[in-house]
Amino acid sequence: MRTAVLADPLDFDGWREAARRLRLAGVEPSRVKFAVGATAGGLFDEGGALPEVEGAFTAPRAFLETAAQLIQHRSEDRFDLMYRLLWRLKDQPNLMAVLSDRDVAEAADRVKAVRRAAHKMKAFVRFRQAQDEAGERWVAWFEPAHRVLQATAPFFARRYSAIRWSILTPDGAAHWDGTLLTFGPPADQSQAPAEDAVEDFWRTYYASTFNPARLRPQAMRSEMPKRYWKNLPEAALIPELTAAASVRTDAMVNQPAPTPNDRFQRVRAPSVDRAATDDLVPESLDELARGVQGCRRCPLWRDATQGVCGEGPKRAALMVVGEQPGDQEDLAGRPFVGPAGRLLDAAFQEAGLDRGDLYLTNAVKHFKHEPRGKRRLHKTPNAGEVQACRWWLDHERRLVRPELILALGATAGLAVLGRKPAVQAERGRVLTTEDGARVLLTVHPSYLLRLPDPALRAEERRRFLADLSVARDALKRTDAKRA
Ligand code: SF4
Repeated sequence: MRTAVLADPLDFDGWREAARRLRLAGVEPSRVKFAVGATAGGLFDEGGALPEVEGAFTAPRAFLETAAQLIQHRSEDRFDLMYRLLWRLKDQPNLMAVLSDRDVAEAADRVKAVRRAAHKMKAFVRFRQAQDEAGERWVAWFEPAHRVLQATAPFFARRYSAIRWSILTPDGAAHWDGTLLTFGPPADQSQAPAEDAVEDFWRTYYASTFNPARLRPQAMRSEMPKRYWKNLPEAALIPELTAAASVRTDAMVNQPAPTPNDRFQRVRAPSVDRAATDDLVPESLDELARGVQGCRRCPLWRDATQGVCGEGPKRAALMVVGEQPGDQEDLAGRPFVGPAGRLLDAAFQEAGLDRGDLYLTNAVKHFKHEPRGKRRLHKTPNAGEVQACRWWLDHERRLVRPELILALGATAGLAVLGRKPAVQAERGRVLTTEDGARVLLTVHPSYLLRLPDPALRAEERRRFLADLSVARDALKRTDAKRA
């Protein structure tokens, strides 16, 4: 029996050279074993080195593709299986197409496991903010089921090309500096940051989007196996949310469904002379709210439960303008009470702004949506609807007379500035409108909620907080001038 010693668990070149010499020398698979050695004993540790053998042969592409993934499997005998297949290809060139063959099927199962491990790595790596000598670096600790780090790292380099990051695993580490992907030695979890501020935000979001009525524990465990939970910040919430799910579902089921009459009354109950509301010039915010309930300036009132006006102090220094009420705001009749509102509240708090001091409203007062099964999916208001509803926003601005308007997203920007803004290019600095109002543009919080990449979401959240800080500082300067 010979033992071929390879330099490391992913030493494909070493295996290929050993396999070439063994096959040309006629060494049957049953007489050779491959091992990964800590000793640098050369290709053949036992039985002596094989002499150089003249000759060459080719292997089919299907085999090479299988081998490139099979080598990432953690099984100790994967090199032996690869050699067995290579040996048998000599007499059966189409072996890789015989899916019922035991070796081929075994290789296919292991390749499937490797692909699954790579997929899980792409889904469950969670970066945490850290610092090194060059500045900010995002670091993740991950324990892949198979040795997929090197094959998967280019995916992260493409996806997170704008930030510096490291992925640490027990098999090795991948580092991206913005231009170059490099690999380092195995790491341990203590080298990765334990937790960062972004995780609170991520947990809040996960809890807010958790729908108990859709809970399917078996499917969830299959998609998010428990072995990955310990490194996922949101996983800490799963037992608690799962335990509470049946109670919450019962409450949802037992809640009386709104009758058509309820809906009719909620939309049309306000005792407003409709003919008078479209051109109503409100003298107070209460009068404006009544006017909105009877407004027919655009068709959006038809499918909404009610109009949702702004709320906050009548003389707020900062007016925050969003896009339109969402599903929860439409039912509650209040702005920013859904997931985006909760994110906004947390961001206000972090930026040192008190929601109680702010006037929050939307560019469009009725919820534009389309039904999808039992759900109502948000639809962006068009320019005509925004223009129609500026009537009410302009009156809110006239009545509140804010020092600064914070416009969240392109629709709010359009309503406040009267032109479609380039949000990313114009955000974060105070603009002045033709009528002298001061406006700060930033993204809408629902944009942050929709970002699937944790690192990108964290980066965008950081920029969002920076924009809110600009608003806070601009208000402070205004206060100081007044004093
Ligand atoms: Fe009137 Fe605005 Fe509602 Fe359209 S969205 S009906 S303009 S309040």
